[in-house]
Amino acid sequence: MSFIAQRLKAIKPSPTLAITAKAAKLKSEGKDIIGLGAGEPDFDTPQFIKDAAIAAMNKGFTKYTPAGGTSSLKKAIIAKYKRDNGLDYTEKQILVSVGGKQSCFNLCMALLDKGDEVIIPAPYWVSYPDMAMMADATPVFIQAGIEQGFRITAAQLERAITPKTRLLFLNSPSNPSGAIYAKADLVALGEVLRKHPRIVIATDDMYEHILLDGSKFVNILDACPDLFNRTVVLNGVSKAYSMTGWRIGYCGGPEELIWAMENVQSHSTSNPSSISQYAAEAALNGDQGCIDPMVVAFKERGKFISEALNAIPGVKCLKPQGAFYVFPDLREAIARLHADGKLKSPTDAALTEYLMEQEKAVAVVPGSAFGMEGYVRISYATSMDNLKKAAERMSKALTPAT
Ligand code: PLP
Repeated sequence: MSFIAQRLKAIKPSPTLAITAKAAKLKSEGKDIIGLGAGEPDFDTPQFIKDAAIAAMNKGFTKYTPAGGTSSLKKAIIAKYKRDNGLDYTEKQILVSVGGKQSCFNLCMALLDKGDEVIIPAPYWVSYPDMAMMADATPVFIQAGIEQGFRITAAQLERAITPKTRLLFLNSPSNPSGAIYAKADLVALGEVLRKHPRIVIATDDMYEHILLDGSKFVNILDACPDLFNRTVVLNGVSKAYSMTGWRIGYCGGPEELIWAMENVQSHSTSNPSSISQYAAEAALNGDQGCIDPMVVAFKERGKFISEALNAIPGVKCLKPQGAFYVFPDLREAIARLHADGKLKSPTDAALTEYLMEQEKAVAVVPGSAFGMEGYVRISYATSMDNLKKAAERMSKALTPAT
């Protein structure tokens, strides 16, 4: 007898968390391994944010709050959306959740019916397809590889749309590719979306502040303000302020949808931690200069690792544009290593296993976990020292013997 609901049979545990856990286990057993799997900044949360949390506890701010977040945090979020994105929201259009992950989950549960289709550009953040499936909907993938800069085109979007399409996820800067959409790309996507009023757009702006190529942040609403009434703008404090463990995400969207999303949340987790909400308010209202040192470090690291990877035969890596990931194309290297008998199969999963088995090992996540075979995701949210060692190790493991 199975204990698992039919609905959950196709759902997989998060592969990024699994790789991070495996690398940590091997390390604790004494293996020399550098983990490049984790999707979290390696910086401490800025002190003024921690101080706010301590003050919250000392003031007794340790009880339930309204399920969808405190009014004062919502005000800080409204001010953030106005300041950074030029968007106008009321408190009824804002929801605070247990991380950006819960915001996305709430959205899928509140919006999607059985049979609805969700368009997900690949490579994608690992949770989108599983969340869509948990809501009984069907993910529809659009492949956007390195040749097209990991960005879907308007023609691809047009082809993927059917009468059942209900939701489109956009994520720029992207986890896992680090690519960003230019305003012109989004204008072109908007022209297609305008013809299909049933489609809700989810713009996942989690890496908004981690821009590495000097460009200004834009999302679909900068390009097409007329789509405001059917767009959900998702964000959170996890990546920008190095607050992954605090679990605060937020979003702005149509009032009716936000109301339904809050209902989902009120029957699952209720409010996010009161103390974390207080800290997130300090983060959003405080000096945004605290983000700068992290971005400076990511720029240096991204440049280093992409150049080091491009120096390896059979590896192609785009210049990082945003977030703290690179997504090198290893198809040539995989084919060669497989032909040389070093990989069990010509797959990115076999390659990541091979890299983990080396005496001096590296843990990276296979591209197939993000819906794109033949690539790996490397997180450079780690020290330059670690990155230098990792690059040497990868070069040694991947360069053909002469
Ligand atoms: N969206 C993207 C694209 C992400 O990469 C992540 C985390 O890795 C999230 C959302 C969720 O972030 P969190 O739940 O930690 O706030």
